[in-house]
Amino acid sequence: MQDNQDNQDNLWRNFPKTATEFEARFATEEDCRAYWIAARWGGTPTCARCKSTRVWAERAGFLFECADCGHQTSLTSGTLLEKTHKPFKVWFRAIFEISTRRTGISAKDLQRILGFGSYRTAWAWLHKLRAAMVRSDSEPLGPFVQIDEALVGGKGGPHKELVLVAAEAGGRVRLAHVENNDTVTLKRFADGQIATDSRVVTDGHAGYNKTSLDKRPHERKVQTKKERRENDAIQTCHWTISLLKRWLLGTHAGAVGAKHLQAYLDEFAFRHNRRKTKGVARIAARVIEQLVSHAPLQMRKIINETRLCRWFTSPQAAGAPELSA
Ligand SMILES: [Zn+2]
Repeated sequence: MQDNQDNQDNLWRNFPKTATEFEARFATEEDCRAYWIAARWGGTPTCARCKSTRVWAERAGFLFECADCGHQTSLTSGTLLEKTHKPFKVWFRAIFEISTRRTGISAKDLQRILGFGSYRTAWAWLHKLRAAMVRSDSEPLGPFVQIDEALVGGKGGPHKELVLVAAEAGGRVRLAHVENNDTVTLKRFADGQIATDSRVVTDGHAGYNKTSLDKRPHERKVQTKKERRENDAIQTCHWTISLLKRWLLGTHAGAVGAKHLQAYLDEFAFRHNRRKTKGVARIAARVIEQLVSHAPLQMRKIINETRLCRWFTSPQAAGAPELSA
């Protein structure tokens, strides 16, 4: 596993940093495939069934037949790009677009850029890429963390959705779409996302208590509007929420269904947590890393998926979000 991490880190370090470098590096289908093979297998195609590396390339290097067990492994089988009919070059372009734009991209814009006939295809692509934008760092937040909640979505109508926000001062954020902010839900959120010795600041909502926050030192800051204007105790949360709302309204015109909201929150947090990355194109390397290591996601599953409280509803899901369970 360590070898694999070293391999991924090397790929990340050597990844193009600018649009021009990216274009040059991934100019052909072969360039993209070679990178994919490096990301997936450390450069040596491997049988998916028996792990043998004695494989024969077929279909111009898209398929590998195992000399030991006869199993056929395609470049994309068992990954998020399984069964794709489009060239890697098109996928790499899409990955580049979603990774490098500070505000992401709408399905409509992606459709136009890639010249797709179908909006639905572009929409499905973005959802697959979003699935690759779940956090890859499992390190809990700390040592100073603010927690807050916000209502988002619903175009100002009655269908506002509750989102929990945890933010390190000036650092990483975690966002979760939840049904309510009772003690049980907040406890699962805190246990999954916040280090057990972190100091926590909240606005004093009753759900934040000894049960939900356990032994974490907790400062309740009940502030008036005036006090908040002068010195907001949970400013990072408030900034994050306002950026999130602006993003949902701006890039996605508020057209985010409740059942897909968590996927958008994942994308937002993924980009937000990498906002200081030097050479923004390198964020694409992390997306590719997730694409090769995640199990396939079927269209029907994407459409029907309800990820509300995914981290909270099942006891075994308290840790990292599992996409393909
Ligand atoms: Zn084999």
